[in-house]
Amino acid sequence: MAATDDIGDARRRVDAARRVVVLTGAGISTDSGIPDFRGPRGVWTRNPAAEKQSTIQHYLADPEVRRAAWRSRLDSPAWTAEPNAGHRALVALERRGKLHALVTQNIDELHQRAGSSPEKVVEVHGSMRRVMCWQCGRRAPMEEALARVRAGEDDPRCPACGGIQKSDTISFGQALVPEVIEHALSAAAEADLLLAVGSTLQVQPVAGMVPIAARAGAAIVIVNDQPTAMDALADVVLRAQIGAVLSEICGTADAPRAH
Ligand SMILES: [Zn+2]
Repeated sequence: MAATDDIGDARRRVDAARRVVVLTGAGISTDSGIPDFRGPRGVWTRNPAAEKQSTIQHYLADPEVRRAAWRSRLDSPAWTAEPNAGHRALVALERRGKLHALVTQNIDELHQRAGSSPEKVVEVHGSMRRVMCWQCGRRAPMEEALARVRAGEDDPRCPACGGIQKSDTISFGQALVPEVIEHALSAAAEADLLLAVGSTLQVQPVAGMVPIAARAGAAIVIVNDQPTAMDALADVVLRAQIGAVLSEICGTADAPRAH
């Protein structure tokens, strides 16, 4: 558990900041029952076939991989997951007028469901709540495709062009969206405080937000339950349970911290 004076230090920095840029990773959603992918209890650690479903070349080439992917989408714990105290603390931060951007590596839309403004949220890996046609680029709610799977289709094709559909997320082997990454990195350069939460900060280019913000003079606060690749750049590192600590340093949605 983080030392109380470190929490106080982080809280004072947040209180003093005016343009907080938050970067969130899988760790903020584990309390909502969404498993981390690479951690010790992660989906890929337990089921290597799931990693194959997440690799774009296998997905496009192999109908059996797609059928398995649709079945596992149907069973995902994410459909019933609810935002937790960590997500709500970031809503409180926005209500205090301090949130400049909320960049997330997560695909679960729990920030928006908690009440963060969609225009503040930058989804660098896309959203599992949308489908995208690989052929014509049509996007639609995931629920539309899942309803067809429930009705018996095993690989629902694009209603517009018959192309292969997949969740509108960045798979392995798939390029990131340059404009989205540019948005995230430029937001980092504009921050006066960068708050990184629940990410080990090992995956580039998003982890590069931390040195970019540090070079621009921003304070760096890292909250994670294990060491990160960027701890040496941080002003405060809180190795702690995320929901409780974020509520302490950002406020809660019910009772935002006074200015
Ligand atoms: Zn299509």
